[in-house]
Amino acid sequence: MSQRFDAIVIGTGQAGPPLVGRLAAAGMSVAIIERKLFGGTCVNTGCMPTKTLVASAYAAHVARRGSDYGFAFDGELRIDMARVQARATAVSARSRKNVEAWLRGIEHCTVFAGHARFVGPDAVSVGDATLTAPRIFINVGGRASVPDLPGIADVPFLTNSTLLERKQVPKHLVVVGGSYVGLEFAQCFRRFGAEVTVVEMGERLIGREDEDVSAAVQTIIEAEGIAVRTGAQCISLGPHNEGVAVSVACTEGDPEIVGSDVLLAVGRRPNTDDLGLDKAGIAVDPRGYITVDDFLATKVPGIWALGDCNGRGAFTHTAYNDFEIVAANLLGDEQRRVSDRILCYALYIDPPLGRVGMTETQARATGRKLLCAKRPMARVGRAIEKGETQGFMKVTVEAETNKILGAAILGTSGDEAIHGILDIVAAGQTYTTLQHIMPIHPTVSELIPTLLGDLKPLA
Ligand SMILES: Cc1cc2nc3c(=O)[nH]c(=O)nc-3n(C[C@H](O)[C@H](O)[C@H](O)COP(=O)(O)OP(=O)(O)OC[C@H]3O[C@@H](n4cnc5c(N)ncnc54)[C@H](O)[C@@H]3O)c2cc1C
Repeated sequence: MSQRFDAIVIGTGQAGPPLVGRLAAAGMSVAIIERKLFGGTCVNTGCMPTKTLVASAYAAHVARRGSDYGFAFDGELRIDMARVQARATAVSARSRKNVEAWLRGIEHCTVFAGHARFVGPDAVSVGDATLTAPRIFINVGGRASVPDLPGIADVPFLTNSTLLERKQVPKHLVVVGGSYVGLEFAQCFRRFGAEVTVVEMGERLIGREDEDVSAAVQTIIEAEGIAVRTGAQCISLGPHNEGVAVSVACTEGDPEIVGSDVLLAVGRRPNTDDLGLDKAGIAVDPRGYITVDDFLATKVPGIWALGDCNGRGAFTHTAYNDFEIVAANLLGDEQRRVSDRILCYALYIDPPLGRVGMTETQARATGRKLLCAKRPMARVGRAIEKGETQGFMKVTVEAETNKILGAAILGTSGDEAIHGILDIVAAGQTYTTLQHIMPIHPTVSELIPTLLGDLKPLA
């Protein structure tokens, strides 16, 4: 039997639920459909549980460094992985329940549990029900990519979702993929006591960042005993009596790494292959991302795609921003566009990397005249006081306009301090405005004006 609504939202990730709130508050009847866990990736298998693990790993790391801070701690540091895991699970579970309870409590909102599939441009099936609406919002997110590596069918492997279920520390975790997700897990599990090897196909870790950022990140994780194998071409997997053998054709080092467990952290793919998009005439790009315009509308009137599934962002904040854009354009009195937003994100190794805008390499590629400044965290008072002096901060400015094009803060509180720069860029102000603000002492942020005072023309 068909049920008619004013709007249908597919998926309860970072964009769908707040959109339901706004649509229902505007008096619309809304159906929201979730096939698995309320809250989606961030809440259940992404940001929340991983950052909870990062916090446990950080605590263990600081405890091991007790002598640096003037305390002794007798006896062995023992990680109780079951409790670490339970802590992460509890944080996720609380949030998941809150999302579900909130949705179920919204007037005019009907929650459907099940897999949604388009059966027409204004119709979606879920279980035995067919729902129709003049507005449909797709917020189906993505999942870990499982590449077709030779031997993959013959070995057990972990993804971000299954590693988070582990109640024991792996003996030797081989992380395939030296990018954001892989590096966070690598450092956490090293700090929990595992031997860890990161295998990366590219010539360096986090290949989208500047070379100095990649090199500093590698130094930081290697200092904790993580083995890094870059330039690993032709990765293949095979069973081994100690776990899994990972074959790599690197220019240097052993051609085979034997691990007890293998984590695949080689990117994400959108959950669009089983959504019946063809029944609605919705186009996807060659990687399966739904094609949208600057307002997140698909080519089919009345259908929008938000969050990771549209390929316009891969973060919780981009998914939430998608909600804000769609809500403002449909229900508000302002026009907002995806192209108005400024790229920003963090890598949550310790110390974290906070990023905004272009890399130095990208800025150079524009051919503009540039100013650049870089300062090691070893010359940041707050970092010295905290005993956390790894990393650096750097900023790239367009010489002609004095506008900041991009910045990276790899260092303690880098994920927070970067917001000062983000806010100035967003406000359309020049770097001199930031230089004239009186910052709080002692903070990492207070060194940003000093950093800007060191700007020099880039050769
Ligand atoms: C390990 C890891 C760590 C991360 N850490 C961070 C971080 O620190 N900061 C950050 O900003 N981002 C982080 N991310 C990325 C972040 O989790 C995602 O960008 C964000 O969750 C995307 O939200 P979304 O709304 O697009 O989709 P999702 O959160 O993926 O939600 C999509 C929902 O749709 C449901 N669904 C899918 N198909 C259907 C269907 N056919 N019918 C019904 N329901 C369906 C899914 O079950 C899911 O609940 C991390 C990701 C991972 C994997």
